[in-house]
Amino acid sequence: MKSLWSEEEANKHRGDLGVRVYSSRLLGRDRSLVLHGGGNTSVKIREKNLFGEEEPVLYVKGSGWDLETIEPQGFSPVRLNRLLKLVQLPSISDPEMMNELQTSVLRAGAPRPSVEALLHALLPDKFVDHTHADAVLALSVTPDGEARLRDLYGELCVIVPYRMPGFALAHFCAGAFPKERTSKTIGMVLLHHGIFTFGESARESYERMIRLVSRAEEHLSKHRAWEVVLEAPREDFPDPVMQADLRRSISEAAGFPLVMKTCTNKRTLGFARHPAAAELMRQGPVTPDHVSRTKRVPMMGGNVPRYVEEYRRYFDEYNAQATQPKTMLDPAPRVVIDPSFGLAAIGRTASEAAIAEEIFEHSIMTMLRAQALGGFRALPAKDVFDVEYWDLQQAKHTKRGTAPVFTGEIALVTGAASGIGKAAVASFLARGAAVAGLDLNAAVESLHSRPDFLGIRCDVTDESAVAAALRDTVLRFGGLDMLVLNAGIFSAARGIAELTIEEWRKVMAVNVDANLSL
Ligand SMILES: [Zn+2]
Repeated sequence: MKSLWSEEEANKHRGDLGVRVYSSRLLGRDRSLVLHGGGNTSVKIREKNLFGEEEPVLYVKGSGWDLETIEPQGFSPVRLNRLLKLVQLPSISDPEMMNELQTSVLRAGAPRPSVEALLHALLPDKFVDHTHADAVLALSVTPDGEARLRDLYGELCVIVPYRMPGFALAHFCAGAFPKERTSKTIGMVLLHHGIFTFGESARESYERMIRLVSRAEEHLSKHRAWEVVLEAPREDFPDPVMQADLRRSISEAAGFPLVMKTCTNKRTLGFARHPAAAELMRQGPVTPDHVSRTKRVPMMGGNVPRYVEEYRRYFDEYNAQATQPKTMLDPAPRVVIDPSFGLAAIGRTASEAAIAEEIFEHSIMTMLRAQALGGFRALPAKDVFDVEYWDLQQAKHTKRGTAPVFTGEIALVTGAASGIGKAAVASFLARGAAVAGLDLNAAVESLHSRPDFLGIRCDVTDESAVAAALRDTVLRFGGLDMLVLNAGIFSAARGIAELTIEEWRKVMAVNVDANLSL
């Protein structure tokens, strides 16, 4: 792993917050460090208020922002002294902690500070970077992960055993970190979670992250556990009808329509056919942080009723042990691993499905790397349940509000590059549907650049082109719920008797016949 730091680029950003934005984007750009929405960064700045009083302010990543694309307004300014007092309290609930975080924000309209803000506050250095780096995670999920990491980092890092994220973790770190830190310490590893680095400049903190993660990668390479080779014979496209049936049964199990993205490649097929795959997946996620995207375990094969039954059993068992009764989430899987097509990722929207896909592709590598190093050990199901049914997650779930009317549904519009078709596409997207737009005009391919739109150049009078477009739509989104047969051509106004037979046939082929093949 190499530092991407460029002094010239960094100088284009003004002030501490500007350079904080710059190095956050460097971290966000690297998928082996942070996946979608993951990781967070902060900077501590002394500021004067309107009364001329100076106080330290923690600018920490706000929720809803991605490190890769973050802007200065994506950081939430929080009163640092209040957080430092808060973290010393013996115990508060996580909703209380969130309330304190939100009421300590100094700018109206700023995003909600990250739940991990307290961890940023308690680390004394000016700049703090936090990632869920693949390599550190792979070491952490081996049977002797803790010893291995202590050995690898020595005094460079304080190693913190797994604690549920939230107040309990921050409070624990507030006690352990000052005791264990030495003059050589530049980072903190949270087992089964991720890694923090810190420094007096943005560059120092960022380059320490690169240095520590590289050390983990080199350790994996030395033990032939970094480059995991997955081979699978070249496969034909999966059968779209089978995939559409699968999406339908998964949506029925959830109780609402879901988008399903099929991902057939060497990695997913190789893993689905790997003799150890079932055993690895049964253990649970590589970090509980993924559970809201992927559920605790993927579904192996296509038996949805069995998956649902096992999910209910898991819920009942751990709900009985919970201090407060929980409301069960839908029991449908979010990841399917099947030797015939590789991986299918499921979400309420196309972007949710794409995130689940990305997370699980990385998880495959982490599990196999850990296995190559001596074995993969996930956390017990109880710890995963606690994160899945965390008060803060449950609150998010009940507060989510009404989703747009077509959320989870899939529409196909022909003649989508212009006029009524183009407007129909925009309207479906605005109402929450995933949309495939077909048109003879190649402009359709770049009509929208977003995960819930698929533009396909296609002549609707060509049956095989239509079949390929339908297949691509089903593999991208999981099926088809609504069709808008809008493509049509019209000859210049003339009486029917004046049309040539060729003109007549062309009009019929596009306006009438093509609709049958769709
Ligand atoms: Zn984290």
